[in-house]
Amino acid sequence: MLPQPRKSILEIQPYKGGLSKAKGGKKVLKLSSNETPWGPSPKAIEAYQNCANTLERYPDGGATILREAIGKVYGLDPAKIVCGAGSDELISFLCLAYAEQGDEVIYTEHGFLMYKIYSLGVGASPVSVPEKDLKTNVDNILKAVTAKTKIVFIANPNNPTGSYIAKDEIIRLRRGLPENVLLVLDGAYAEYVTESDYTDGADIVDMGENTVMTRTFSKIYGLSSLRIGWAYCPASIADVLNRVRGPFNVSTPAILAAAEAVSDTAYTARMVEENNKAIAYMEKELAKIGIKTYPTVANFILVDFGSENEANAAYEKLMNEGIIVRPVGNYGLGTALRITFGKPEENEQVIKVLSS
Ligand SMILES: *Cc1c(COP(=O)(O)O)cnc(C)c1O
Repeated sequence: MLPQPRKSILEIQPYKGGLSKAKGGKKVLKLSSNETPWGPSPKAIEAYQNCANTLERYPDGGATILREAIGKVYGLDPAKIVCGAGSDELISFLCLAYAEQGDEVIYTEHGFLMYKIYSLGVGASPVSVPEKDLKTNVDNILKAVTAKTKIVFIANPNNPTGSYIAKDEIIRLRRGLPENVLLVLDGAYAEYVTESDYTDGADIVDMGENTVMTRTFSKIYGLSSLRIGWAYCPASIADVLNRVRGPFNVSTPAILAAAEAVSDTAYTARMVEENNKAIAYMEKELAKIGIKTYPTVANFILVDFGSENEANAAYEKLMNEGIIVRPVGNYGLGTALRITFGKPEENEQVIKVLSS
């Protein structure tokens, strides 16, 4: 008999990223992966370029410079920060460390697909919980908890819906969950949110010993290709993650570029401002042409065309103009498309095509 993987591995549907090529070799406007259209801070690019002459050296396994920079900007203890090759890697470590065969891992109906993929990867059973109005629903999560539940994952804001739940709801969730259940608050889009009732989750982490916040440099910081993210954890969980991660799991270029990116707070503030303008523009213009949207606090918008046929037609129409957006049928949202915001002139282009 040939080598056999864990049975659950073959239940995984490989993750499909956003396309990056349009038909007919047209100039492409890629609005399919929630990347920033603005690129990273120029200081991050410079730090990246300066690494070129030390590539023969292993990175600092503790990513000290980066953890200290993050700690300074966000007011967090660097000892409780663990870096990963993208927040995806941290999500995989959390599944590896806290779930096994026979355990259940809860995530929401339209939650990020990687929660399911990594749960299956360790042999645990992913449990999808219904949302309400495309929003995480705390009561439904609490109802789904069993003696087998080990982890609850919530993306806040959520991808692909763009919705978020308020801090008091997260606290209610934490208080309603058994103490042994790890709550993971995925804040991949946290930097974009300006709503006053929102929390990125760091204060919830500090409430106890059983909540983790994950963050990424792939979105507002514009460093997707470097694969760098971080988790803020109770000390006991940071210790566990530091045991399961590879000794050099993040590269020197990633560490140094991310440290500059997070420290350039003026640049980040500009990105937030641009994003708020994009939200206002897209919501207004899509409403004008009679297309339904869901409220968003992230750098993308979920647009509902009412039927799968209409959604497919809109997808093709955009694709024919070299604009790539994201179909979300694999999230159970076949009548919708997810459109990442571009620069103002790019957003105008999207509106022009959709209104034609
Ligand atoms: C983009 C995204 C991530 C980030 O993934 P990286 O591995 O850090 O690039 C994590 N969670 C959600 C919900 C996302 O949309």
